[in-house]
Amino acid sequence: MSIINKLIEVETAKGISIYNITPQIVKLIQINNINNGQVIVFSRHTTTALAINENEERLLEDVKVYLKKLAPESDKYLHNDLHLRDVPPDEPINAHSHLMAMTLSTSEVIPIFDGKLALGTWQSVLLFELDGPRKRTVLVQISGE
Ligand code: ZN
Repeated sequence: MSIINKLIEVETAKGISIYNITPQIVKLIQINNINNGQVIVFSRHTTTALAINENEERLLEDVKVYLKKLAPESDKYLHNDLHLRDVPPDEPINAHSHLMAMTLSTSEVIPIFDGKLALGTWQSVLLFELDGPRKRTVLVQISGE
C-alpha cells in the first residue's frame, strides 16, 4: 500500500466562491495508479470548507444565498471586535465566514475502487471559499494500492 500526500492550490475570488476540485483528485489517483483504497480531502483553513454535492451552476448560487441567510455579514459578532483581540494589522472582519465554514465540512473521505472515485453520478467534491480572495490549499491524501 502506498500513501500519497498532495496539496491542491486554488486562487479564489472575492467573497463566497465555489470550486469543483474533483478533476484534480481524479488526476492524482490516475497518475499514481491507485486501484483500491481511499482518499481524504482536507481543507486547511478556518474560512473554507468542503462538501460533496451537485456541481450545478444555479444550485451553487442557491447555496450562496442560503449561507448568507444563515450567517449574514451585517450581523453583530464578537469575533469582529478586533480592538478586543490580539490580531495582526491585516486581520479581516470575517465571523460570518467562520460560521458558514462550520455548517459545512472540513474533510471528506471517498472510497476508490476499480481505479475510480466511488462518487455517484451527480456528486462532485466542492471547495467553498467563504472569505476570498485568497490563495488556498487543500490536502489530498490517497491511501491504497
Ligand atoms: Zn476570523
